[in-house]
Amino acid sequence: MLASERRQIILEHLENSGRVRVSELTEILDVSRMTIHRDLSQLADEGHLEKVFGGAVARQSSDKDGCAMCGMAPRERTAFVLQCADGSQLQACCPHCGIMLLSARPQVVSALAADYLHGRMVNVRTATFLVDPDLTVCCTPTVLCFQDRDEAEKFQRGFGGKVMDLVNTQSYLRASMTL
Ligand SMILES: [Zn+2]
Ligand SMILES: [Zn+2]
Repeated sequence: MLASERRQIILEHLENSGRVRVSELTEILDVSRMTIHRDLSQLADEGHLEKVFGGAVARQSSDKDGCAMCGMAPRERTAFVLQCADGSQLQACCPHCGIMLLSARPQVVSALAADYLHGRMVNVRTATFLVDPDLTVCCTPTVLCFQDRDEAEKFQRGFGGKVMDLVNTQSYLRASMTL
């Protein structure tokens, strides 16, 4: 397992329970305590968590604004940033909210979303979306962003859902909201 995958798993545990223990992580990830301590230190340096005795706790994110659509705290894995004509930015918690905002706010000129697998920010106009798969990541129907259509299709084989471009995702969400 790559260090980045391990850290992703640690963050997911932290998100679910608000706190992680070194002893529990060594068991789940099958690595030494030292490795876990190194991971936690790096995640702490990056501002993802705070180390406490025997583990770590979620960082209180007072400096972050909520999603402009639903108010939920934005997540790194599903980050979505909208650029407005006046130079300001809006944040959404996930592509579901981001794409809703894109449809609702005429002042939005462009948007970037995190690739669900790799985390890098990609232009939503060229991205591929997996809509309504069998997993709930943030808001429903779930919308996941992929840079590569191939990867979206691979994900679809495991989790179902529909592979769409931005325009089709916008109409799908509009339709699902007016039901
Ligand atoms: Zn939201
Ligand atoms: Zn969301």
